[in-house]
Amino acid sequence: MSLVTAIPANLELAHTQLLHCELCEHRCGANRVAGERGPCKAGTEARVFRHRVECGEEAELVPSHLFYLSGCDLRCAFCIAEANAFDPSRGRPLTRDFFSSAVAWGRDQGARNVQWVGGEPTIHIPAILDAMQGVKNLPPIVWKSDFYGTPAAFDLLKDVVSVYLADFKFGNDECANRIARVTDYVRIVTRNLKRVALESDLIVRHLLLPGHYECCYQPIVNWLCNELPYVKISLRDGYMPRWQAARLTELATPLPRGDGDRARHYAMERGLNVLE
Ligand code: SF4
Repeated sequence: MSLVTAIPANLELAHTQLLHCELCEHRCGANRVAGERGPCKAGTEARVFRHRVECGEEAELVPSHLFYLSGCDLRCAFCIAEANAFDPSRGRPLTRDFFSSAVAWGRDQGARNVQWVGGEPTIHIPAILDAMQGVKNLPPIVWKSDFYGTPAAFDLLKDVVSVYLADFKFGNDECANRIARVTDYVRIVTRNLKRVALESDLIVRHLLLPGHYECCYQPIVNWLCNELPYVKISLRDGYMPRWQAARLTELATPLPRGDGDRARHYAMERGLNVLE
């Protein structure tokens, strides 16, 4: 199925989610059309708090035109976009007209793709599909996500997304619950990674957290080695304590010097494809 036919077909289904939302694994069932709000606090409208062409991403993606949507289903204590990420009323409405002219602007700037980021774009799939429907010659779509979406959400993205950029943040459920307030994290994220690896290009990104080498980083690498050994992994070692990070002792300081090299070595030694 081409993008041209995939978007309208998925859009109709996506709108039914707004009546009883199970787009993310909170599965709260909110009727967002009737004004009910779940943990993400999102309504029917998506809002863009920033869009720009960036070159700081993985080399194969840049220049990339990033659209930052407000609202998120996670509450990571170290979030770097906290005010915008957790308040879906921030930013300008994502309308077809706005998106269409923004994409044209991005193309003029040399962007190779459109990248949806958040907050978390999964909670806004209906509005995103709607906005994209209005654009002719849409560039390839990159989906940067926390991968806490449901199978139904990923069904809606099938034949729409070219590259998934997955934030695999925690290597065990206890850390995920303590830091990001989500449950059953590892089972959900690994299920989704295995699925999309069969459907599209996949890059797994991991932000190294201070004090979480053994409990989070190593289990993630070990899982990838066993289940997706060919996957590309992108390691981020620029952690800085933000938002409520100071309430968790080990997250109150930057990543210790040398931890990035140690982590890179660990993954490469196990044969993983570590991106520069
Ligand atoms: S996306 Fe929001 S409304 Fe939908 S299930 Fe998740 S928390 Fe609930």
